[in-house]
Amino acid sequence: MSSSNLSLSSEQIEEMQRHVENCYPEEGCGILGGFSDRVAWVIPITNMLHSLTRYQMDPREQIDAFFKIEDAGGKLIGIFHSHPNGPEFPSESDVRESAFPEAVHIIWHPLDEEWNYHVYRIDPIVGFVAVGISLHRP
Ligand SMILES: [Zn+2]
Repeated sequence: MSSSNLSLSSEQIEEMQRHVENCYPEEGCGILGGFSDRVAWVIPITNMLHSLTRYQMDPREQIDAFFKIEDAGGKLIGIFHSHPNGPEFPSESDVRESAFPEAVHIIWHPLDEEWNYHVYRIDPIVGFVAVGISLHRP
C-alpha cells in the first residue's frame, strides 16, 4: 500500500514557493524526487505553455530531472504546480491528464497575498484525496 504522507523540509517548501512566485501570473511547475515519502530534490521545470491556467512540463528538462533522481537511486515522489487563480485543489484536467499515479500533487495558490499549498493524491475513482505533510530537517 502506498504511503499517504509527504515529508518535506522548510527549505524545500521555500524553493517551490520561489519558483511559483517567479512564474506568476503564469502557472509554474516542477518535480519532487526522493526516497520513500521523503523529498530530497525540488527541481523547477519550465511551463512550456506559459499559460495562466494550464501547464505542461518542458520534456527535455523533465527527462533531465528524472535522470538526476534515478542516478542518485531515488524516485519521483511528487509533481508541484501553481493555480494563480485557484482552485486550491487539482483541476479536472489535472486529474484527467495525470501521468504519474504514484506521485503526489502539490497545488500552490495565492490567498490574501500569501502563497499556500495543499497536497493530494490523484485517485481514479474519487478524483483526488488530501495527503498529510510532515516536516523534516534538511
Ligand atoms: Zn492544475
